[in-house]
Amino acid sequence: MNSTNGSGRGTRTIAFVGLGHMGGPMAANLVGAGHRVLGHDLVPALLDTAAEEGVEPAGSVAEAAAAADVVVTMLPAGKHVLGLYRDEGLLAAARPGTLFVDCSTIDVADARHAHSAAVAAGMRALDAPVSGGVVGAEAGTLTFMAGGGEAEFAEARPLLEAMGKKAVHCGGPGAGQAAKICNNMILGISMIAVSEAFVLGESLGLSPQALYDVASTASGQCWALSVNCPVPGPVPASPANRDYRPGFAAPLMAKDLALAANAARAGGVPAQLGLKAAELYAAYAEEAGKDRDFSGIVTTLRTPGKE
Ligand code: NAD
Repeated sequence: MNSTNGSGRGTRTIAFVGLGHMGGPMAANLVGAGHRVLGHDLVPALLDTAAEEGVEPAGSVAEAAAAADVVVTMLPAGKHVLGLYRDEGLLAAARPGTLFVDCSTIDVADARHAHSAAVAAGMRALDAPVSGGVVGAEAGTLTFMAGGGEAEFAEARPLLEAMGKKAVHCGGPGAGQAAKICNNMILGISMIAVSEAFVLGESLGLSPQALYDVASTASGQCWALSVNCPVPGPVPASPANRDYRPGFAAPLMAKDLALAANAARAGGVPAQLGLKAAELYAAYAEEAGKDRDFSGIVTTLRTPGKE
């Protein structure tokens, strides 16, 4: 139930399902902001870790949902969210009017189905995927992109701000997921563009530093170049300087681009570079890139034998 603590901030009882790389620290930040958090995950060890941060382990998702004002999910994919909502009884167990906030990155169509299922069960819903990775989840500096009603966003906002530095209301159901995959399509394409430019520059005898010095202050400037530079040297903190240890892991980029490609195909949008980027990242993430940062794709773009 909604109550007010001594500082005047509303405290809530939150069911948090999915305490993995992202969900674990996000749930801990909600506890840190003074909320009661009932956590659940299929992996018992994650419940133990979360308990050390003040999350109360719940015996089942239904038990957590029944006691909650707000249910937050942070799960791998749409099938897990829909499975929990419909088949594993999350919606059935919650009290009428409970706010469901799904922070997972899932297909836009799945997000809209999840929203409709929640509303049909007498609940309220918001999709609120994140950008910022595990580092942002731990530091509480995530960016949330939300889709759903104004009232739902306003209610969720203090919770999103306890887990992140920024929350943007992008529109109706699914709009948060749409913003997430469009942003990451820009990122995936721009990383390949920057990588191809470095490889072409190398073949023309241009040093990476010279290209960086020009492009980072000219019209080629972008995050993939100036923060996550795919070649070692110019940006000391970029994953290229630590053998492409993530960072933002290539399989997650491949996942997000596959979601963008699905949405483009479903909507009849040509998105030629987006589809090509999805194909290149799927191949990279399956082999050399399976535990590498997404910027490591540069190593697959050089002529064989010239790495
Ligand atoms: P993860 O695999 O570490 O965590 C997901 C957790 O969900 C797992 O611990 C799993 O056991 C649990 N789970 C799955 N089905 C469940 C069920 N039925 N009941 C209870 N628990 C269940 O994944 P993650 O890296 O934390 O990512 C979560 C989501 O966030 C994904 O959608 C991902 O795309 C997105 N995301 C991840 C990052 C990142 O850098 N890791 C960044 C942005 C967005």
